[in-house]
Amino acid sequence: MKMKTFLLAALAMLSTAVVMAQGMMQMPPIPVDPDVRIGKLDNGLTYYIRHNNWPEQRAEFYIAQRVGSIQEDDNQRGLAHFLEHMAFNGSKHFKGNDLLRWCESVGIQFGTDLNAYTSIDQTVYNISNVPVTREGIVDSCLLILYDWADGLLLEQEEIEKERGVIHEEWRLRTSAMSRMLERDLPKLYPGSKYGYRMPIGLMEIIDNFERPFLQAYYEKWYRPDNQAIIVVGDVDVDKVEQKIKALFAPIELPANRAMVTLEPVPDNEQAIIVIDKDKEQPTNIVYLMMKHEAVPDSMKKNLDYLMTDFIKDAAVSMLNDRLKEYAEKPESPFLQASAEDGQYLLSRSVDAFEINIMPKDGQAEAALIAVMTEARRAAEFGFTPTEYQRYKDNYQSALDKMYSNKDKRYNSNFVKKYVNHFIENEPIPSIDFTYETMKQLLPMLPLEAVNMLMKELVPTTDKNLVVLSMHTEKEGAVYPTEEGLKNAIATARAAQIEAYVDNVKNEPLMTVLPQKGSIVNVKKDELFGYDELTLSNGVKVVLKKTDLKKDQVLLRAEGFGGSALYGEKDFANIKMFNDVIESSGLGNFSHTELEKALAGKIASASLNLSTNRMNVSGSSTPKDVETMLQLVHLYFTAINKDQKSYDNLMQTTENALKNRSLRPEVVFSDSIQATVGCHNKRFTSLVADDLAQVSYDRILEMAKEQTANAGAFTFTIIGNYDEEAIRPLVEQYLGSLPAEMEYVKTGDVSTEFKGLVTNNFRHKSETPKALAVMTWYANDLPYTLENNIKAAIIGQILDMEYTKKIREEASAAYTVFSMADMERDDFKSQASIFIYCPMKPEKADTAIIIMRDEVNALVKGCDADKLTKVKEYMLKNHSDEQKQNNYWVNCINEWRRWGVDLNTDYEKVVNAQTPETIAAFAKELLNAGNCAEIIMLPAE
Ligand SMILES: [Zn+2]
Repeated sequence: MKMKTFLLAALAMLSTAVVMAQGMMQMPPIPVDPDVRIGKLDNGLTYYIRHNNWPEQRAEFYIAQRVGSIQEDDNQRGLAHFLEHMAFNGSKHFKGNDLLRWCESVGIQFGTDLNAYTSIDQTVYNISNVPVTREGIVDSCLLILYDWADGLLLEQEEIEKERGVIHEEWRLRTSAMSRMLERDLPKLYPGSKYGYRMPIGLMEIIDNFERPFLQAYYEKWYRPDNQAIIVVGDVDVDKVEQKIKALFAPIELPANRAMVTLEPVPDNEQAIIVIDKDKEQPTNIVYLMMKHEAVPDSMKKNLDYLMTDFIKDAAVSMLNDRLKEYAEKPESPFLQASAEDGQYLLSRSVDAFEINIMPKDGQAEAALIAVMTEARRAAEFGFTPTEYQRYKDNYQSALDKMYSNKDKRYNSNFVKKYVNHFIENEPIPSIDFTYETMKQLLPMLPLEAVNMLMKELVPTTDKNLVVLSMHTEKEGAVYPTEEGLKNAIATARAAQIEAYVDNVKNEPLMTVLPQKGSIVNVKKDELFGYDELTLSNGVKVVLKKTDLKKDQVLLRAEGFGGSALYGEKDFANIKMFNDVIESSGLGNFSHTELEKALAGKIASASLNLSTNRMNVSGSSTPKDVETMLQLVHLYFTAINKDQKSYDNLMQTTENALKNRSLRPEVVFSDSIQATVGCHNKRFTSLVADDLAQVSYDRILEMAKEQTANAGAFTFTIIGNYDEEAIRPLVEQYLGSLPAEMEYVKTGDVSTEFKGLVTNNFRHKSETPKALAVMTWYANDLPYTLENNIKAAIIGQILDMEYTKKIREEASAAYTVFSMADMERDDFKSQASIFIYCPMKPEKADTAIIIMRDEVNALVKGCDADKLTKVKEYMLKNHSDEQKQNNYWVNCINEWRRWGVDLNTDYEKVVNAQTPETIAAFAKELLNAGNCAEIIMLPAE
């Protein structure tokens, strides 16, 4: 618990450096961004308003409350979260579910745009992506925030309906991990309320509490002095400020009120060791946590806070690189380990430096020794100048990237920062301030400060040490003991250690540039505004310049090929292909060396094998396009076999797979796959037994085949690249790719169920679960813009119907997922509907009937009012999507593949839809008669 002292020590060091450089006497404050209007009403309510016009005509409306489940009394456990749900079920100006209905009418979707969360110390509600096209919409959103702040009705009848919904949310979220954490919290927080305040609460309280308990929480804690209104977007700041004042000032602040205080967490003199197991936990995990005091909110105001944050991130990040490298050693007792520093589990009053470890089987103690020893090595010898230089290079690039896109920041970025400012006093400087300050400070922040902080993070005694070890409960399994874990720590502390040696390859990614090709033809596409280049080796390149994101260039390529070329003996290789290639090295570099060599670059590329195509994807900043293209070139010409990295991948995969079917959700999803895909082994999930069939050499051979003929590929490059530079780069790195072979078109290897298929079964799980999937498809509907839109509408309509009928009326589920779409490949086009519902077991029959009935009802038409709402949402969404590079890549690809323009007439076609056109489409889809139902119910 020495954060303060070590902060001060590290800061003294930093200050010396800064004082010497700038002659400053003390740390200056971090100025609040002048572009946000912050105010406080007399009743204590805080507001943040900011104008931001990317995208245009959109805004976010938030209310943040600095209270959560920690404020609950023992007989209120779960009511902070229950209250959050009640905010959508009746308030002064929005009776019943009117709030949802109004939001839908302007294209704000429940769950996506309209949502809330309750955590241990905050409850935050949001109305997002609001189309602020008229003043009335701004007014209504403020009125909703007002109702949430002070106007909830909490009606008995609505409470009764919501009990079931929350019970199902609990069921849905319950997993081995959450069961163990719930059980272990009292031991992890001895003598603290944090041991008993998981936000989901106790189901016996959720099912039975009486209304006054909920009212009491609402009245006691939802008060203006605990609330902040946040509005960011394309709004008039002065006007919104006036409206907030008029609306919220009359809310009274009670004279006698309970204060929100930070719940303390007592120190532990002896190590806390908790070992737990669960029958559905698929892998073993050990958490090593070293608690220390959190930076108090009052100490976050000055520049030293930003600097400390930087040095802490530097230390953690460099340690993580070492742990990653260590994991690839054959003798490593752990498969993966990663460090972080932040909140200790749930409590904001205490932080922890923690390392999460995935040990090899039966090696929990050895893994703990190894990881603790690495932490000690970093603490006692510090990091090397080369490691620190890489970190600083990466930091500088990330800073430049962020700054370059400063005019195209989304509203949601700002809102999150303001919530943190209100609740945790996190600083909110302007982007210019952060950029200029960090750029100046970066060369002055000494490695010694990072090393000093690292030393403080790893204490030499057991005080405030916590080890949480979670395991798969299985017959014959051997679990670590408290004694064993304690000894592991002691052993690590006594071990003789030496300083880390940083092995770096000091050479460029490509030492010899390949023989350059040339552009032999250029064709313009007027519709989508791109250039299609043909290179001398036959490669096609589509170039579209955009400045939608100033810091982004995307590359997507597809070539003929694909996994359909390979038969049954390669099924396991097909399934591991992407991961194995990703874990390999490139050129002269091993996987680890490559990561080091890319320090300071923001560029990536990968190969992805799909059934009938070989795909390549990449992304970079405009500055690092050349690096991205070099990576792509190397994937085509020089994948470097890295046995160590491969072995680690295979062991990690085996560890993840061997117990996967202990999870009921996995049993269910495997059943879906088997039923829908007719047990075709090509498409079933990889299982542990398959791994024996995987061959690294064979996968490398397959990669060679798939990339042998670049002439079969079209590369689409989109984003804010430099117009002058891109063509020579493309000639250099793509024009030089090999194009020797004829390309092979693959055949149709898909298998699909026909007619009506059902798979109903029972499955025993720790927490009884009932899950249902229904899916319909038809193959003879043409792939057109119209049919794409009709399918999407059906998905949206079903979503609305199910929310209303299954969640709100029947309380039979917390959520229902439904979607419908059109897809096309070389052989067919397909329209399909897919519905997934995790149900209350006692109400499964009801839910299943509604799921079926609503789909069948579509052939008679859909509700005109709902259709209007869906159209609003789709039009708004479409205009937002047009601001994303990914959207245009997809449109261009569909246009080039099938000659279908999914963009130009979108609005017109959406507007033209009627209940009759939707009914006609639904009828065609359902008349194909292909329907599969997969239902899993709990076994006794
Ligand atoms: Zn909830």
